[in-house]
Amino acid sequence: MTSEKQLFINGIWRSGASLYDLKSPYSGEVVARIPIAHKNDVYEAIDSAEQARAQMKQLTALERSAILEKVSQEFENRFEECAQILVKENAKPIKSARAEIQRTIETYKFAAEEAKRLVGEMIPMDAAKGGMGRIGFTKKEPLGVIAAITPFNFPFNLVAHKLGPAFAAGNTVVLKPASQTPLSAIMTAEIFEKAGLPPGALNVVIGKGGEVGDLLVTHPSVKLITFTGSVEVGLAIKEKAGLKKVILELGSNSGVIIDSVDDIEAVAARCVEGAFSFSGQVCISIQRIFVNEMILEDFLQAFTKKASELKIGDPQQEDTDLSSLINEKEALRVEEWIQVAKESGAGIAQGGNRNGAVIEPTIIINPASTLAISCQEVFAPIVSVTSYKEWDEAIDLVNDSQYGLQAGVYTTSVKKSFDAVDRLEVGGVIVNDIPSFRVDQMPYGGVKNSGTGREGIKYSIEEMSELKLAVFTQ
Ligand code: NAP
Repeated sequence: MTSEKQLFINGIWRSGASLYDLKSPYSGEVVARIPIAHKNDVYEAIDSAEQARAQMKQLTALERSAILEKVSQEFENRFEECAQILVKENAKPIKSARAEIQRTIETYKFAAEEAKRLVGEMIPMDAAKGGMGRIGFTKKEPLGVIAAITPFNFPFNLVAHKLGPAFAAGNTVVLKPASQTPLSAIMTAEIFEKAGLPPGALNVVIGKGGEVGDLLVTHPSVKLITFTGSVEVGLAIKEKAGLKKVILELGSNSGVIIDSVDDIEAVAARCVEGAFSFSGQVCISIQRIFVNEMILEDFLQAFTKKASELKIGDPQQEDTDLSSLINEKEALRVEEWIQVAKESGAGIAQGGNRNGAVIEPTIIINPASTLAISCQEVFAPIVSVTSYKEWDEAIDLVNDSQYGLQAGVYTTSVKKSFDAVDRLEVGGVIVNDIPSFRVDQMPYGGVKNSGTGREGIKYSIEEMSELKLAVFTQ
């Protein structure tokens, strides 16, 4: 029998207003019945988080750290169970699913460590004429209730990037996961409950973004909204948020420059990983590759060969590299974008076909920069390869984008490496690796339409706490 899930509000599991069938994107099979929160459930969740503030604020750094440490340990204990949730609700190939759980364990561990490092500073008050005889210091205080709205693509680890720092800093949270990936959020709440988080400190409400999400974004008790998702929704949230703090982790069409390399085969293999992992449904997936024309032919040969070895199929199989997109509607959109690129005269070096919700790994040669597959976020296993003559041209090509999350640059020149770091308009420049590189303690976030604010536990904690000043007068 299909299991019926519940909402988590004020430390209690309970039914929602109605239920929907959660279907596996790959098989179409119903994997669970999911509750939809009524407006009153959302308000109660926010009230519970508001009530739990006092208890969270009283926890010592050691107690907050211990809860997060237990959470990390429990993910380790339930490793395979969590990976299987990703296979079911997300069509994430099991290899990639296990990699996400491994990172989730580490993200909570970093949060447990950072919980012990919330430091302030002494202010030299007597540096001002009027400051003599005073001692000033700062301390970090929790903000209060945080609304976390998360996307479907890394539903365990991106939730960890919100809950980990929020609780490390002593806040309370109402979490709204993507409608396609609620099972991971429910499992996360179970794990926090077992780890001894005070009731009401974490609440999980499920339902349509435009309804449940909107209630969170506009509620006066919510002090910060941390959102990861598409640009369109991010902009809408920012417009409605008023004076609330907002962290936006949005999309991209990441570029990599391949200028000069020692081992073209190895670089091609890394680019295959960066462009096609989880069918390109990764915010820092490689979408645009710019190759020095001197090495274009060698690169393309190695790249297409490696890409042709990828195995498409059932996410449950150990050797599957790519499976279906999150739904068929997305695959239809992508098919249309490929068709438009073909009609414009761009060459298809490989792939280009759709089968249901599955899109083949697709390599497009020299598409115009104005085509959707170049300038919009594709979020599918599609990558373009464009050649350039001069270094400056390559920098301009990467920067010719509304987005700016991360960029990669392969070069054997130290001078060019530093030049790229200076001139690429992105949040992070990855030298001699792909833009898709991320570990979970590094500062991570974008410029332009890729967002505002940084994640990476220590950096999120900065955003999720309030700086308070104390001045003592002698
Ligand atoms: P999405 O459609 O923007 O949805 C993200 C979340 O927002 C979901 O929980 C969604 O709920 C909710 N939502 C939708 N409309 C809303 C509204 N009007 N008000 C409040 N919340 C609303 O994104 P997605 O398709 O799940 O994820 C893919 C996107 O996320 C891509 O653009 C990708 O680049 C981006 N992303 C960025 C990062 C990063 O760190 N920069 C990381 C991963 C993904 P429903 O599911 O119910 O619609």
